[in-house]
Amino acid sequence: MVDLVSQYNNIKQEVNAAVIDVMSTGNFIGGPIVASFENHLCEYLNVKHVISCANGTDALQIALMSLGLEKGDEVIIPAFTYVATAEIIGLLGLTPVMVDVDERSFNITAELVEKAITLKTRAIVPVHLYGQSSDMEDIMSLAKKHNLYVVEDNAQAIGADYIFRDGTIKKTGTIGDIGCTSFFPSKNLGCYGDGGAMFTNNDELAAKLKMIANHGQAKKYHHSVIGVNSRLDAIQAVVLDIKLAKLNEYSSARQKLAAGYDRAFKEITEVKLPYRKLNSSHVFHQYTLQISEGRRDDLKQFLADNSIPSMIYYPIPLYKQEAYKNNFEGDSLLITEQLCSSVLSLPIHTEMNDEIHRYIINKVLEFFTIKTKS
Ligand SMILES: *Cc1c(COP(=O)(O)O)cnc(C)c1O
Repeated sequence: MVDLVSQYNNIKQEVNAAVIDVMSTGNFIGGPIVASFENHLCEYLNVKHVISCANGTDALQIALMSLGLEKGDEVIIPAFTYVATAEIIGLLGLTPVMVDVDERSFNITAELVEKAITLKTRAIVPVHLYGQSSDMEDIMSLAKKHNLYVVEDNAQAIGADYIFRDGTIKKTGTIGDIGCTSFFPSKNLGCYGDGGAMFTNNDELAAKLKMIANHGQAKKYHHSVIGVNSRLDAIQAVVLDIKLAKLNEYSSARQKLAAGYDRAFKEITEVKLPYRKLNSSHVFHQYTLQISEGRRDDLKQFLADNSIPSMIYYPIPLYKQEAYKNNFEGDSLLITEQLCSSVLSLPIHTEMNDEIHRYIINKVLEFFTIKTKS
């Protein structure tokens, strides 16, 4: 699905030198190297604070811990997302309320969220799935109306632009009260291990996030709240710094491949192409097709037989998972169910050459031609 080795080979000299440099400074965790990366990310995102941590799941957990929520408070999330989004809510004794997503964008909308708001609702966690922003303007005004926090799960959309109605452009993850991201190696901005970060424009929240990530202390050995231990190490920070400088280039490479897939597949009647929203750019963390008529699994098998990986993100709605089904009352969510049985993500990454791209395209076309002939 991704080719992290080729990507490394193209930045090898720079990375190797930077990593060796870190080792000779003896500054392995936190410190000036991590701070410098955080500052660069602040500039890139045009956000006031970036607080790094150990991974994207921790970022979400620390973000929710900073909001002063109480046991039983409800947090609205999409049912169609990675488990981390629900996991931390459960771990904190909060109640995840899962809502359906929009069929075209795969994201929650203000309209879908509004129906799920109760007196116990305290926060909304929109997930910018596959690399495209949720409708943040509408979600923010809904949140304002009901006095709710918004924590953006930006793990799949770093670098994406959201466009407000008046033309203002902001990076995803900088619009809600807090944005969270993951630097897991396969993410659009990935390091060579685990890493994550939180973004905010709110000074007070920034101080809390920093304190919670560091054992609840603002001053060493003075613990004012219960915190966690979640830190980014300097080796990851220098790798991220190098890759951040290339992030726009990386996003363009993904967008180019996606456009090529779109052109090649637009005539296939059984295939629905990824929708392009007008109010968001798409950084294509995943290139995800919807395959109709129950042919998704056959296509996946056919591609595997031809040595092409493909993935189903996500095969089972969260509310059908053993761990989360008790949190869910009511009818199944139709769009979520439909997506779980029809989505298929094709390989997309920054180093894919024309030959491989063509090969994947041809095999997908071949699969559907076979069907037409029979
Ligand atoms: C990857 C991911 C996370 C979790 O990030 P980790 O660094 O793996 O903990 C959370 N939410 C979404 C949507 C993700 O894709």
